[in-house]
Amino acid sequence: MRGIAHAIGIDCELETNGALQVCNTNEDAAQGQAYVDKARQFGIPSKIWDQCKTAAALGSVAYAGGLFDPNTGQLHPGKLVAVLKSAAQFAGVEIFEKSPVVHIEEGPQHCITTANGRTVKAKILVLATNAYSSQLGYLRRAVRPSTKSRRNVLSWPYAG
Ligand SMILES: Cc1cc2nc3c(=O)[nH]c(=O)nc-3n(C[C@H](O)[C@H](O)[C@H](O)COP(=O)(O)OP(=O)(O)OC[C@H]3O[C@@H](n4cnc5c(N)ncnc54)[C@H](O)[C@@H]3O)c2cc1C
Repeated sequence: MRGIAHAIGIDCELETNGALQVCNTNEDAAQGQAYVDKARQFGIPSKIWDQCKTAAALGSVAYAGGLFDPNTGQLHPGKLVAVLKSAAQFAGVEIFEKSPVVHIEEGPQHCITTANGRTVKAKILVLATNAYSSQLGYLRRAVRPSTKSRRNVLSWPYAG
């Protein structure tokens, strides 16, 4: 990410000062430990923090522990989009903003219709519409609203 941003010349305010994923329960902490053991085999230097260390960092004893990854961090999401947009355009991609797709007709040449009534034909179509794919008739039975987050993620500056 840093390399692409540097090449494009847009500072997306990337700071890799780590992130702490807090564990709500002992079961979450045990799962976190299993993850750390596996991650270390791949050279990822994650660590499990016990309840004391997590409480000392956060000022709250509410959590059973934490999963700290020193390699992660945060950036400015809007500027990241600008970086990715410029990189894609530099590679020859044409971007058509404000052109929502309302219908897809699959075939040897897929035909997509946009909200202004125009159609675009393409041999290959990539659906990158996240959870909204169901509105186009795809993945209807594969997407559901999340009712409960098992872990919370805190960026390190807030955790510290
Ligand atoms: C508040 C918030 C904070 C987050 N924070 C983090 C974080 O700190 N770190 C992290 O890794 N992830 C974070 N995420 C998750 C991350 O944003 C998503 O995982 C990621 O953006 C998914 O990328 P995507 O390309 O699959 O979908 P999206 O980024 O959602 O892109 C889907 C695109 O499809 C477009 N689209 C949908 N339907 C149509 C249509 N019919 N026609 C045309 N276009 C359409 C949408 O407008 C959208 O631009 C956060 C998410 C939220 C909501």
